[in-house]
This record gives sequence, C-alpha cells and structure tokens, in this order.
Amino acid sequence: MYRSHTCGELRASHINKEVTLAGWVQKSRDKGFIVWVDLRDRYGITQLVFDEERTPKAMMEKAQNLGREFVIQVTGTVIERASKNPNIPTGDIEILVSELTVLNEALLPPFTIEDKTDGGEDIRMKYRYLDIRRNPVKNSLIFRHKVTQEVRNYLSKEGFIEVETPYLIKSTPEGARDFVVPSRMNQGQFYALPQSPQTFKQLLMVGGMDKYFQIVKCFRDEDLRADRQPEFTQIDCEMAFVEQEDILNAFEGLTRHLLKEVNGVEIDQFPRMLYDDAMRLYGNDKPDIRFGMEFGELNEVAQHKDFGVFNSAELVVGIAVPGGNAYTRKEIDQLIDWVKRPQVGALGMVYCRCNDDGTYKSSVDKFYDQDDLAKWAEATGAKAGDLICVLSGDKNKVRAQLSALRMELAERLGLRNPTEFAPLWVMDFPLLEWDEETERYHAMHHPFTSPKPGQLELLATNPGEVKANAYDLVLNGNEIGGGSIRIHDKKTQALMFDYLGFTEEEAKAQFGFLMNAFEYGAPPHGGLAFGLDRLVAILGGQETIRDFIAFPKNNAGRDVMIDAPAPIDNKQLEELSLKLNLKS
Ligand code: ASP
Repeated sequence: MYRSHTCGELRASHINKEVTLAGWVQKSRDKGFIVWVDLRDRYGITQLVFDEERTPKAMMEKAQNLGREFVIQVTGTVIERASKNPNIPTGDIEILVSELTVLNEALLPPFTIEDKTDGGEDIRMKYRYLDIRRNPVKNSLIFRHKVTQEVRNYLSKEGFIEVETPYLIKSTPEGARDFVVPSRMNQGQFYALPQSPQTFKQLLMVGGMDKYFQIVKCFRDEDLRADRQPEFTQIDCEMAFVEQEDILNAFEGLTRHLLKEVNGVEIDQFPRMLYDDAMRLYGNDKPDIRFGMEFGELNEVAQHKDFGVFNSAELVVGIAVPGGNAYTRKEIDQLIDWVKRPQVGALGMVYCRCNDDGTYKSSVDKFYDQDDLAKWAEATGAKAGDLICVLSGDKNKVRAQLSALRMELAERLGLRNPTEFAPLWVMDFPLLEWDEETERYHAMHHPFTSPKPGQLELLATNPGEVKANAYDLVLNGNEIGGGSIRIHDKKTQALMFDYLGFTEEEAKAQFGFLMNAFEYGAPPHGGLAFGLDRLVAILGGQETIRDFIAFPKNNAGRDVMIDAPAPIDNKQLEELSLKLNLKS
C-alpha cells in the first residue's frame, strides 16, 4: 500500500493516528536540528517534520538531502502543529515521520511549481507534465472534468445517446482546410480528419438514433489566431423530428444546467436577438450584453451637413462611453490611435464630449451645432458626463471597428465581469456569405443548413438576403455554440450545392453518401455543437482556453513537448508512396 491517506485529507481529528503518505516534495526548510517538508499530491499539501530529538540520524540526513519534486513515501504519526497554518485545510497538523522512502529522485524543475510560477508560457508547455502539477492548471483540468460530467449527466437524463463517429473520414465542409492522413492500403488516397462529425450525425438521424450527442475532437487546419487550437473539442448534438424551437429549448436547458451546477448561477429564459439586430446594435454576431453601450446609427442626423467624411460614408455610427467625458485630450488621442491600429483599421474617430452642464463639445464643431450634437446624444443614449465616439465608412468594416472599440472600452471600464453570465441566442443568420477572395457566395454555417421557410426562391434573385434556420448560442461575447435545422430532402440539398458552385459530379463525389441517405427516409432534423474548450474557459471565468486543455498546441500549431509535427523517415514515406516536394 503506497498510501493510507492523501496529502489533502488529514485534520486535527486524525491526531495520534499512524498514516502513510506519498507525493512530491514541494519544498523543505532545513534549520539543522529540524527539517520541515511540504509534501504535495493532487489533493493538497501536508507538512512533514523530522527533528534531531525524535528522528534517527540517518533518516535526518536523508531528509536534509531531499530535493524539490522528489517522489517520496513516508509513514509517521499525525501530531498537532505548534504553529498552525489557517491557509491550508491540513494546517492544524503535521506528520512526525518514522519511515522515509525515496521512490524517485527528480531533476530540479525548470520553473517553480507554484501558483505564481517564474516559468514563461514556452517552457511551461515544453514541460507540461510539470505545469499540470501546479494548482491553476490542475484545477482547470478538474473543472473541465466536472463540466463534461454534467454535460453527460444532463444529456443522458434527457434521452440523448452518446455515439462515437470515425476520425478517418472524407472532408466535411465547415469552412476550414482539412488535415489529411495518407492511406497505406489505398495508395495515393487520403483520409481527412473531421472538421466536425456533421455528416455522420445527420446519418445517425437517418439511422433513427433520434437524439445524439458526442464529446468529440474536431480538426481544422486554419491559420491560428490567438487562442485557437488546430484540434479542439465539441459537444456535438443532433435531434430528429424537431423544429428550431425544440433545439433551442433542449440546449438552453443544458446551458442552464451547467451554469447552475458548475457556477451556482440561475438564469431564466435566455434572451433572443435576430442576427440583423445584433449587427446593428453591437456590430457583432456575438454581442457581449453584460453591459450596454449599444450602437446609435447617426446617418440621419449627421449626414448632409458640410462634413464630407460623414457624407460619403455608408454608415456613421457611435457609442456613448459612460463617464468618458472625464478622459483627457491625451487619453482621447490614445483612443484614436487605438482605433487606427492596423488590427482595428479605422481611418479616424470623431468624438463629442457631453458636458455636465448639458452642452456638447465635439471634434467637428465646425460642422455641427448644439442641436445636431443633442441628436447624436439621443441616438447613442449618451448622458451628461459621457463621451460619444463616432466611426464612419463601409458598413461592415465600421461595425467591426466600433465593436472592437466597444469591447476594449468595456474591458478598460471593468464592465466585463467574469463572474457574471449573460447568455443569448442569436438567430436567423444569413444562409450565404459573400467571399471577397473567391468572389462567390459560401454557406455561412455549412451547406446542410436549411433556408427559412419560403425563402428558397430568393436564392435566385437576392442570395445575400436569404435567412437560414441557423442560430448561435453566445455567452459573454463569445460564440459557445452554433447549429441549424438541416435540409433533409435530396432535391433541396442538390439545389443548395448548385448555388454554392458545386457541379453535380462534384456534389455527388463529395456528398453522394448523404444525398443517397436522404432518399431512404430521412426525418426532419437539426442540431448544434458547443465549443467545449471555450465553454469551459468562460464558465471558469477565464478568456484563454489553453489552461483547460491538458496538452495544447502553441500558436504555430506545434506540440513543443513531444515536438510534433515532425518529419517521418524514408521508409514510412515509401510505404505510403509519398515523395516530398519541399519549397524551402
Ligand atoms: N457542425 C457544426 C459546427 O461544427 C455544428 C452544427 O451545425 O451542428 O459548427
């Protein structure tokens, strides 16, 4: 028996008991005549004591030579501590050691195994197994376990069946590049790793599974923006014989359950917002509604004066920054520089101070009088003491820019409280999205998403206007889930592929299996998928997902611990009939 108790378990009630513990040496303090060692395992820390009077000399020496992170086993008696430590649950006791076994020595770790470590991100990733010993990472992984358990509990209770789908498949169109795997047995042919189990879960519906879920890895070979992982986890779900309302209710239920069980937060009905309204009011399809600062469109009140910049803009739009009139000129100039950074891309920013006495002072006073500015204040909901920030230009760009500014200001004003949760559904997304690069329409969600009833005809005349039966679940300014009601008949699906620019042959070659299945009695169905990594991070009150993933990749998609990706040897290449054609 390696241990009778864990290092987080012993209390005053155990005093005089003989116990055996095993764990890692967190640290030791050697006063010469007395040595204290903090012994750590997953459950906590227990103090060990060796002293000249009661510990045999050989063991005393052994204790003095224990290094950080040595793995040891001790047997001893639980005794009351002379000076108690109220900061840890085991702080009333210590173990007077009678037997000490070094189970394994350890090199000095390259960073301190403390809550606040001296190790930078790179070194911690390289030695992730040491990083996982630290409380912040350990607790994040335990937190993730709790969330996934609750997901499984809830969905199982609601009659969902967890079904595994394959990883070695053919391309699934979720809008990213595929990771591919060469097939040795089928030379010159490749599997694609699933960007999501989309087509399989639809086939499960045709197979009569009715209510499916899976906690599943998905793979997308995208350029990695901050906080994206090439492999990530979804809670993937699908239901048959449902309408949009049924799906929203089912997964609002799941989210409410998680907020309650994991965070102790009870939330009633989630608000719902149309995509068009989200874009108009927040410039963003995943608005953070924990705070206001809604957009006020100013075209009507700010155009047709003599200010050419506004007159030539497709959209003039502003937000009121609460208390922003207190900003100095220098601070406002810094804000202007901030929106002009290439990452945001605004050409400039007009502002208007709302003075306490009810007057206004703008950066464009030459063109606008007090009455005009009062209308700006009305449109943006600005009050005395606020600052109105106004951007103008191309509608889509300007919305994105002002949305970035809104989030930045909210962050600075402390309005993004991580312990407050504001979920909402964003609904009726456009079916298609124009892609500047390829000059074509793409499916905004994926090609299996159905248009709103009666809108199919619009495809021919006004494709950009067609709305889809598609919805996203948004939490604190993050998309945590998204899905749609699917097309379930072959004719509509073929039409959709046609609009997306697939020839009949291409559609058949890529998705013939699905179209065929639709001819064998496909039930109406729909579903959604949650991004589990992000969901867990947000519920855990954090914005970055990395600490909630045991072995994450870095920004270049590398696992620096195992050093992957890596070349394969010539024999492997030969077996696969592959030849490299490296560019550099
Ligand atoms: N497969 C979709 C995705 O990964 C989710 C869904 O439509 O259910 O975003």
